[in-house]
Amino acid sequence: MNHPVQISLDRIGVRQPLSAVAVGDQWLPGHGRELSSCSPIDGSDMATLALASAAQVDKVTVAATAAFEAWRLVPAPARGEFVRQYGTLLRAHQADLAMLISWEVGKITQEAVGEVQEMIDICDFAVGLSRQLYGRTMASERPGHRLAEQWHPLGPVGVISAFNFPVAVWAWNAAIAWVCGDPIVWKPSEKTPLTAIACQTLVQRTMANRADVPPAISNLMIGAAEVGEHLAAAPALPLVSATGSVAMGRAVAKTVATRLGRSLLELGGNNGMIVAPSADLELAVRAIVFSAVGTCGQRCTSLRRLIVHESIADALRDRILKIYARLPIGNPLGEGTLVGPLVDTKAAQTMADALAVAKKQGGRVYGGGRLMEGVPAGGVYVRCALVEIDRDAPILQQETFAPILYMIRYQCLEEAIEIHNSVPQGLASALFTSELREAEWFCSAAGSDCGIVNVNIGTSGAEIGGAFGGEKETGGGRESGSDAWKQYMRRATNTINYSGQLPLAQGIQFE
Ligand code: NAD
Repeated sequence: MNHPVQISLDRIGVRQPLSAVAVGDQWLPGHGRELSSCSPIDGSDMATLALASAAQVDKVTVAATAAFEAWRLVPAPARGEFVRQYGTLLRAHQADLAMLISWEVGKITQEAVGEVQEMIDICDFAVGLSRQLYGRTMASERPGHRLAEQWHPLGPVGVISAFNFPVAVWAWNAAIAWVCGDPIVWKPSEKTPLTAIACQTLVQRTMANRADVPPAISNLMIGAAEVGEHLAAAPALPLVSATGSVAMGRAVAKTVATRLGRSLLELGGNNGMIVAPSADLELAVRAIVFSAVGTCGQRCTSLRRLIVHESIADALRDRILKIYARLPIGNPLGEGTLVGPLVDTKAAQTMADALAVAKKQGGRVYGGGRLMEGVPAGGVYVRCALVEIDRDAPILQQETFAPILYMIRYQCLEEAIEIHNSVPQGLASALFTSELREAEWFCSAAGSDCGIVNVNIGTSGAEIGGAFGGEKETGGGRESGSDAWKQYMRRATNTINYSGQLPLAQGIQFE
């Protein structure tokens, strides 16, 4: 078969028939229902495989636990070397993996290649980190004592990921967890089985040359939500890192908390941008369009709420609508395409429903609706929508995973920040201004309440070097760069007495 998906799978080395479960270098058939994977580009069938069942979770976590016993003793720089080798394979197969992302998620080539670049970047970051898992030394109050922290591997980590970043989010977790000494048990979205199988295959190829790497540091379970539920409940997984909707995060958080495990939650966003009168509108318009329609509005950081000063609102709206009218929407693999399809018909229905509700709530809707002409048949293509709406409309409180941009007007920055912060989610935020004081206000404790606070760039497109994540219903987790690695390790505070006396802390006498 000469389908580009098959060519990419072959080049990566994926074996047929496809299996939903991998324990390290072994593939196992899933025991769950059969899944047919269709492309959002044209609805074509790409793969059929039996999903993992919840009953298979135990077998995988037992293997991961055994791998942990050995992996935690491999020196961290040697663990980093494994990640470096994996990154080298990713570089060699960047185009193949990007092709699979485009076919499974509908991302345009630029964004798909960019997603793989994020994986490569996090591998590089993790390699450096493998020599920098620093603990502090503190001054002891007792003579002849040393007080210091050590960071130790934590244990196998469960990773539940969403469809829209099918591989980068796993890589953020896996690369960091591996250098920290933790195996991974990955449950990707059931909408993206092929990219997951490709990633695991590349891990297997990396392991083939490394006798010191226990294969079950990398495990895969492609299954439905019930597999995720069982991972959340598994006592063998001290940390569960879950990316997806707020509803999923609530369920996972509850289950993990019941067994007093740790959860790292990366949930829905409802991201806002304020455009002040002094903004460079040229830059602002470009940032707005990329953030609002990139990945067809299916990024957790997609721009959903545009809060514009009333003095420039009409002009800005008209410029955006002009661009929306000629957006190249279509086959994401086509040259020049900027907006690909939604992931499925359910997503298109959700978009249509949200627009109908917005209208009922007084919104003035521009655009929206299915696009049937000039796009591949069988795919779900939509016109991007802009909705002028009042700040109090209840629809503004919810994330709709589609290219809908709500526009709200404001009079003073205090009001704009209040509108901005008035939603339950707290992921990404942005302000366009040329006023230093406004910029600093937005970044201050009295400014944006989000985990990501940008000035003069859009809400989407984060770099891996920073800690990524959000507040409030977004879940509070931080992944990727900065000191996010600490969540994948356990901290031991060591006190060593080399004095020959036994002085007690706080000067307590106990003779
Ligand atoms: P989803 O919540 O439907 O699914 C995400 C993952 O969770 C899938 O693997 C799914 O099978 C699993 N799952 C669903 N219910 C579960 C349960 N009860 N227990 C355990 N696992 C369960 O989300 P989606 O549609 O794939 O992705 C879109 C959502 O993800 C959006 O809300 C988006 O904002 C969010 N997202 C957030 C980030 C972030 O970093 N904050 C990144 C990407 C996506």
